[in-house]
Amino acid sequence: MQKGVLTRESVLMAIEEYDRLGRDAFLDKYHFGPARDYVLVHDGREYDSKAVAGVSHRFEHGHALEPDEFSGGRAHAVAWLERIGFRVKSIRNPDWARDELVLACAITAKNGWKGLTATDPRVAELSELLQLLPIHPLASRNETFRNVNGVARKTVDIATHHPDYQGKPTKGGALDLAVLKAFLESPLEMAAAAELLRTGVLVGEFQDAGPIDDDVDEFDAPEGRLLFRRHVTRERNRGLRQRKIDSAVRQGRGLACEVCGFDFKAVYGDRGDGYIECHHVVPLHEAGEGRTKLSDLALICSNCHRMVHRRAPWPTPDELRTMMPGHRV
Ligand SMILES: [Zn+2]
Ligand SMILES: [Zn+2]
Repeated sequence: MQKGVLTRESVLMAIEEYDRLGRDAFLDKYHFGPARDYVLVHDGREYDSKAVAGVSHRFEHGHALEPDEFSGGRAHAVAWLERIGFRVKSIRNPDWARDELVLACAITAKNGWKGLTATDPRVAELSELLQLLPIHPLASRNETFRNVNGVARKTVDIATHHPDYQGKPTKGGALDLAVLKAFLESPLEMAAAAELLRTGVLVGEFQDAGPIDDDVDEFDAPEGRLLFRRHVTRERNRGLRQRKIDSAVRQGRGLACEVCGFDFKAVYGDRGDGYIECHHVVPLHEAGEGRTKLSDLALICSNCHRMVHRRAPWPTPDELRTMMPGHRV
């Protein structure tokens, strides 16, 4: 039988049996546990989506799938049900990403590191802004995603972790603490980063790049991923890179790495001729609107570029050179 090939009819039959037996008996009968991440929404009611998908196989292929034969997530059950037009929604909202925490920290800081209430207009404004951020795919959100209650609660969580807070801190993730720490260490920079994020979102600057996958990025930027991605997009701009290269060649400086002296042509011959990477040396929180100037760019090799971005705060090319054992001053 073909796993995942379902029709609306078979799913409706599974739903009918679910209604007839009741939830507990239905789950028991087919050995499923209660849904943890997704529910199927049908006629205004919610059903354990994985169990319904598994049982639908019985009406399509003769026997139900066992829970360990497939996943209840987007790889299997959710995709199968959505493909034939059913609506699946996530039960839990996604965890807060760094960018979102930067924005929440910024309004908490402006409020003297006190939590805000759900009726505060600044909370309403942030709630709307967070819904526009292209970080979490729509399918992973439910109707309470970053609503005023959730946003207010997050500002309270943050406030209770501030060192001046007297009471017992509420629970907060490691990322909450990391962002708060960044704010306490560099208040102006982080406030500026929040402002850039906010204006960037409002003018739609981040929209076209699609959702960010939080796992794939090995680089670290306290200001969050949206500003980091903008940084990378800018330095990969081909026209700009070419102008920087042309200007270095015109000035007779050649294309050796400004940090370590690596020369792609010297090592790779013709294949390396004309190759070098551009790094935008202006810090993320300062790189707002406006054109990138050639003097904002450093020409560095791929290894040095990785090492700059590897861990925040990012060293300048000169700083990176002094970190290298045996460097020539
Ligand atoms: Zn280098
Ligand atoms: Zn860079």
